[in-house]
Amino acid sequence: MLSRPDVVECPQCLGEARRRIATPHLARADSTAMALHDATRATADRPAVVTAPPPPPRRQKFTTNPLHRKLPRP
Ligand SMILES: [Zn+2]
Repeated sequence: MLSRPDVVECPQCLGEARRRIATPHLARADSTAMALHDATRATADRPAVVTAPPPPPRRQKFTTNPLHRKLPRP
């Protein structure tokens, strides 16, 4: 890495091309994909904390009328 030149000759215009330090295209990634990556990494070892258990399933309604017991069952 120390032996790299600071200035090289441009292969197209034969001009002086100086060495520049640039980011490795981090901002060019799809934002939706990056958000999914971040969310997956964030919850990989620390799942989301909930404040309450999920609501119970809806109970089936039933009647207390004794005459309904004589009705045919499905
Ligand atoms: Zn050039």
